[in-house]
Amino acid sequence: MFKNSRITGLVIASIDKGEADRFLTVYSREFGKIRIIAKSVRKITSKLYGGTGLFNFMEIEFVEGKVFRTMTDYRKLKGLDHIKSNPAKMKIGYDICEIIDLSIEKEQKDSRIWLLIKQSFQLLDETKADNNTWLICYQYFFWNLVSLLGYRPDTGHCYLCKKKLTPEDMAFNPVNGGVKCFMCLNQGYFEHEIKVSTSAVKILRLIIKGRRDTLQKIKPIMGAEKELNGLLNSFLKYHFSVSIK
Ligand SMILES: [Zn+2]
Repeated sequence: MFKNSRITGLVIASIDKGEADRFLTVYSREFGKIRIIAKSVRKITSKLYGGTGLFNFMEIEFVEGKVFRTMTDYRKLKGLDHIKSNPAKMKIGYDICEIIDLSIEKEQKDSRIWLLIKQSFQLLDETKADNNTWLICYQYFFWNLVSLLGYRPDTGHCYLCKKKLTPEDMAFNPVNGGVKCFMCLNQGYFEHEIKVSTSAVKILRLIIKGRRDTLQKIKPIMGAEKELNGLLNSFLKYHFSVSIK
């Protein structure tokens, strides 16, 4: 007998297969990241039709086969409609999904990551779409994810001399996720290190604290977004060998 399972999750990627099937990657509360095949799902007569889209929190039922898990039913729990109706938010949503797909190991249940994914998508859905959306949603997700994966950047102290950081030019080191102080920077930049401003470090500090009311107060600071994006990309490239366009 094949085992039936029911999970709560979010589809983060899908690839069409053959005439009408689709391979889904789902981040679930119960199993972490898993792959499920949805057979004949692209046929309009299928009872699964419409159940494999991105940006929906869903309950998914499947049977555990020898090779694949096969989807048998679904129920939409919450559609993230403000994301689906806004191209800028959708782009952020796709990028977050891609990071989940590329950086998290399969089949490792982690309730903290599940909670972060839920919070990040809810935040993206509910936040007013302006220039700040990217900053507070995407960066919030990313730096808190890497913190959970064990690379939490220390934004308070220099990673080298351990002294408290002062508001002067600093450097970010993607290798250890640390910030180097102005004094240590006198010795020059180490390999992979990037210059980082006080404003960018301040924003990073607030983002990692991650309190909802603090996040809403973050104001875009000229140049800081670009800098944070640079830090994020260097981190992704170094630790996960991937780059996001
Ligand atoms: Zn130092």
